[in-house]
Amino acid sequence: MAILEVEGLTKKFGGLIANNDISFRVEAGEILGLIGPNGAGKSTLFELLTGFYPPDRGAIRFQGHPIVGLRPDRINRLGIARTFQKLKPFQNMTVVENVMVAAMQHTANPRKARTQALETLSFVGLLEMRNAHAKALSTGQRKRLEMARAMATRPRLLLLDEVTGGVDQRSIPGLIELVGRLRREGMTLILIEHNMQVLMSLADRVLALHLGRKIADGTPTEIQNHRGVIESYLGAAYA
Ligand code: ADP
Ligand code: MG
Repeated sequence: MAILEVEGLTKKFGGLIANNDISFRVEAGEILGLIGPNGAGKSTLFELLTGFYPPDRGAIRFQGHPIVGLRPDRINRLGIARTFQKLKPFQNMTVVENVMVAAMQHTANPRKARTQALETLSFVGLLEMRNAHAKALSTGQRKRLEMARAMATRPRLLLLDEVTGGVDQRSIPGLIELVGRLRREGMTLILIEHNMQVLMSLADRVLALHLGRKIADGTPTEIQNHRGVIESYLGAAYA
């Protein structure tokens, strides 16, 4: 069953069409990779799915319910959460406090929020850092914190924007392992990912954007061999 159905989604910024008539579906439990060159419209698509921008046209159904026009906090409570390409933790709060803020979406009880935050930190492998300030974390650890903050809102669909982007090579296998564990927990994921090896090891299916349009939608192998994707994104090394 499709957990997410997107039809004809279009978003303009002035004269620029950042998302142009995009349609796709995501099945429950699936990991969908989202690729495309910088400026292709990947992050904008996440903004639309989470209600941060209204689309100019198109429909989004999450678990069968139309969500266009709902506020971001409402969409989040329905079960969609995201991480940001540019990390935005509260720098002067501790790691556990950062995750508690997210857990407060579901409970007004700080003790419950703390318990949930600690469980989530344990899942992402940051329990030992719980009392550190967010600004003391390495980039890889910040990515884990971002994921913990999104997970603490208890989503059914998690949108991850460049989890391995800007992270040192040594931290990448651990992040891949974490995403794999999320999938085994039954999470549905859309993954913006530039590292093709990471994408190939995680994604069930890949959707490619170019200049705001969907240019391909297929298995990782189909996408790697897709002429338009090679020309616009993967480049000569793949051809
Ligand atoms: P990607 O994440 O694939 O790199 P984005 O979705 O961030 O691409 O951007 C798609 C296009 O939309 C780019 O040309 C970008 O400059 C433009 N864009 C994104 N957000 C805004 C905004 N808030 N205002 C104006 N233009 C924007
Ligand atoms: Mg982006």
